[in-house]
Amino acid sequence: MIRLLTTLLAGLFVVLLGGLFWFDRQFEEPEAELVPSVVGTLEAKSVLAVFAHPDDEQLVTGLLLRAKSRDGATTRMITATKGEAGNQTPVVARQEDLGVVRHAEALKSGFALGLDEQEVWDYPDSGVADADYEELVRRLMDRMATWQPDLVVTFWPESGFSNHPDHMRVGRATRDAVYRLRATSPEIAPTIIAYVLAPRQMMSRFGGARGQLVVANQPAPTHAMPGEAGAKIRGWEIHASQRNYVRDVYGMPAWFLHRVNDKEFYYVEVLSN
Ligand SMILES: [Zn+2]
Repeated sequence: MIRLLTTLLAGLFVVLLGGLFWFDRQFEEPEAELVPSVVGTLEAKSVLAVFAHPDDEQLVTGLLLRAKSRDGATTRMITATKGEAGNQTPVVARQEDLGVVRHAEALKSGFALGLDEQEVWDYPDSGVADADYEELVRRLMDRMATWQPDLVVTFWPESGFSNHPDHMRVGRATRDAVYRLRATSPEIAPTIIAYVLAPRQMMSRFGGARGQLVVANQPAPTHAMPGEAGAKIRGWEIHASQRNYVRDVYGMPAWFLHRVNDKEFYYVEVLSN
């Protein structure tokens, strides 16, 4: 009887371990070059992150944190909206105050990541695509001209990591801003764009129709790097109005997801003159 129980338990353990191993594989991109730091590998000294919502930087904590702590780069971030249209999970404020609350959450998160400078703009949450596109590009060009980052990290415009229209529009405006600055003032324009990408197997298996669309519209990643799971888990504590986001969307606690989904993937575009 005890032998049978031991055999059953051992079998269960093997199945669980195998399942965990399989699940972990869904978050890997074996063809991408695994590097300790995208910014360090590309020898960038100044980084600008451009994203749509407070908490989007959770996708690039590894890149930003290591750029600062490991490579000594200057890091800055622009968040285009205050996230006022988001769902609160849990509810921590009056909904009409959510923009103010999430603005502060973005600043706290940036501080924790060691950003040197950060701006949160006031484009309408879920309405960036309806806002004046040329103005958005001009504002981004203006900041790039002032700050002169050599590497810009943003969304891939055609997939936006999650197919969110704000993400796609911000990615496109950022790419256009870099291209136009290179055309007019190549001496001060960024030379590298790193686009953050979703792990394709995970997206296509578990992301439903939206996941399929994301995978179909994003390129294969060129680089993979550690995602700094600890920073992501801490990030969800800082983004208190979104603390339960991972559990609500993925049905598992953030500490588990980020231990399994432990890398960040990028398509790196190096611009030559
Ligand atoms: Zn977002």
